[in-house]
Amino acid sequence: MSILDNLNSEQKKAASKVEGPVLILAGAGSGKTRTVTYRIAHMVKEKEISPYKILAVTFTNKAAREMRERVETLIGEDSKRVMVSTFHAFGVRLLRMYGVELGYNSNFNIYDGDDQKRLIKNIMKELVITDKSITPARIASIISRLKEDGITPEEYEKDSRGFLESYKTVSSVYKKYNSGLKNNNAMDFADIIVNTNRLMDIQKIREKVQDRYQYVMVDEYQDTNNIQYQIINKIAEKYKNICVVGDEDQSIYGFRGANIQNILDFEKDYPEAFVIKLEQNYRSTAHILEAANSIIKNNESSKGKNLWTEKNKGELIRIFESDDARHEAYLVLQEINRLKNSNRNYKDFTILYRTNAQSRAFEELFIKFNIPYKVFGGMQFYQRMEIKDIMAYLNVINNSLDSLNLLRILNVPKRKIGVKSVEKIAEFAENKGVSIFEALGRSEEIEGLSKNLKIVLSEFHSMLLNFIEESQYMPVSEIFDGVVNSIGYFSYLESLGEEAESRIENIEELRNSISEMEKNQENLTLGEYLESTALISATDKLEEEQDYVKLMTIHNSKGLEFPVVFVVGVEDEVFPGSKVEYDPTQLEEERRLCYVAITRAEEKLYMYYAKQRFVYGQMQFRTQSRFLDEIPGHLVELMNVKKIEKTPEKKSSVKSSIENFNPIRDGKSKASSSNLPYSIGEKVTHKKFGLGIVRSINDKTIEVEFSIGKKKFLTMAADKFIN
Ligand code: ATP
Ligand code: MG
Repeated sequence: MSILDNLNSEQKKAASKVEGPVLILAGAGSGKTRTVTYRIAHMVKEKEISPYKILAVTFTNKAAREMRERVETLIGEDSKRVMVSTFHAFGVRLLRMYGVELGYNSNFNIYDGDDQKRLIKNIMKELVITDKSITPARIASIISRLKEDGITPEEYEKDSRGFLESYKTVSSVYKKYNSGLKNNNAMDFADIIVNTNRLMDIQKIREKVQDRYQYVMVDEYQDTNNIQYQIINKIAEKYKNICVVGDEDQSIYGFRGANIQNILDFEKDYPEAFVIKLEQNYRSTAHILEAANSIIKNNESSKGKNLWTEKNKGELIRIFESDDARHEAYLVLQEINRLKNSNRNYKDFTILYRTNAQSRAFEELFIKFNIPYKVFGGMQFYQRMEIKDIMAYLNVINNSLDSLNLLRILNVPKRKIGVKSVEKIAEFAENKGVSIFEALGRSEEIEGLSKNLKIVLSEFHSMLLNFIEESQYMPVSEIFDGVVNSIGYFSYLESLGEEAESRIENIEELRNSISEMEKNQENLTLGEYLESTALISATDKLEEEQDYVKLMTIHNSKGLEFPVVFVVGVEDEVFPGSKVEYDPTQLEEERRLCYVAITRAEEKLYMYYAKQRFVYGQMQFRTQSRFLDEIPGHLVELMNVKKIEKTPEKKSSVKSSIENFNPIRDGKSKASSSNLPYSIGEKVTHKKFGLGIVRSINDKTIEVEFSIGKKKFLTMAADKFIN
């Protein structure tokens, strides 16, 4: 009995060939990730390969954690010694060890998108850039892209395209931005990857890493960008024990520089490669699988696969038409409640959409009807103001060179340090060639500051210094409490008024998460804590035990699987987005995205499109996505919108037909007078405004809330307009 007996014969071949290059190229749900997991277990337990020598790279932290857990169930303790990691976490680890070679201290801080934007804003102010044609966020994303493409600020400056103002802006910011990061002893996400690659060009380090990780595996290889590709191939160069796994039909990160060619060229890179194709799908019903296949085959880039399944046909794919975004959310909710009543749990349901903003309509409705849910991505916990404030304190305590974070907290809570004073401090630091932190400690010497202010600054400096010292031996949680108390952060939040309560709750939640980590990891250092939070990504906090509906973008759903999937907003110009009109390669990427969405579903798949939707503040008419037309008719069941009638008899029949649940009515008060033609909470439709809900009603007027806002009608005549 071998561990590999849990695999089918093709998977087994791929998993048992542990020496030499191996390519597993296969469609969704065919067990690629499972094969990698079992391969690791097999290597450690049956091939007696030291777990230290194994490196497995995946795309998200969640995927890495899941893989680690699965390996642990197979081989126990040894699993802790296998390096199962994301590119970023692996890179950070190497950079902590060897970053000195590139001029970084090992306690460097990691900047997220928000930090990037703030740094860029500061630089634009400093350079007095008035260019309004480009936002800091846009500059941040261009810079990340340039870094990942290996283009230095100097090269970019030389670039002949530089006659446009926005290019000049980016070019001048880029240079300052990089030196700013370096001076702050900080790296952004792109730096982590780029610098890891630079480490691999230093021979003695490369050799060390090569000898340490003699067996390399990469899941989701189709989404690696050029630099990640280089890192992996440099590590594997010596022993050539490299196993990559992926599906060219699921390459969905082209916009971030992922290069589909990396996987397609594997056999060119390693002519001796052992190639395995997996064709049995274990995830989805036959209907779902057939729908996915019939969509992806329209891509010219697709090589065509024959995925098959032993599972039964399953149900048809249900396609719903809705009036608008709110109605769409309502229809999904109705279905969720119907299924919930037939013994499903909330956690079986996942709503997938093209863009983050689409979650709003669902959230509003779910809050209203007390449906437990969780949104992954979008405005994340760690991006909130109060969390960033406290994290900024902790980052400065960890690395006092971090001027960006130091400037953020200089006046949080308010210390009456004005813009002019900040400029003087910065100027002093610049002239003396010291960090802002050091400048604070020498505030006596800074000209033009009031006596009072000098005292404030030096107290602030001593407080931080004190924490820096304590952080050497005190647990993170105590440093955290110390900071929050010393600065009086809660009363500061209260003084801000708005949302104080929920902000305080968030700080408490953050505190809980630290306690939890400390429970699992004795002697957790501040540096380790900051690192783990910096690399948290959208789907990380997906806790399976709790019962809630999940909402996420399709991008975030990569590699995951769910019993019931609702894909919403399947309309032209939303999905595929309008970009495809002028860039046909985009259409193929969008179609791959659609393939990813559909193949997440195990048992039930629902797809929705709205007849109209708000785009840039305007209601626009929509048609269903061309992707829906690509699904053969025999696989789908078209669901018609059930208009709720206003006559009492019909109301009750509709009510019973949706299985005792009408979220719009339940729990809502009826209008007092029974002979009024409408009741509060009733759903109505209007020719122009679409779907609405009756909000108030009396003898004279009826007020209806539509997605464009509230409208009043004369009660007597209302039925001429709404029904
Ligand atoms: P994706 O392309 O979406 O990442 P994948 O190819 O990595 O998919 P997995 O997630 O590894 O597929 O597997 C899909 C599901 O099928 C999982 O639940 C997995 O446990 C199951 N599965 C795969 N192979 C087998 C097998 N040989 N026996 C039983 N179950 C299997
Ligand atoms: Mg997978």
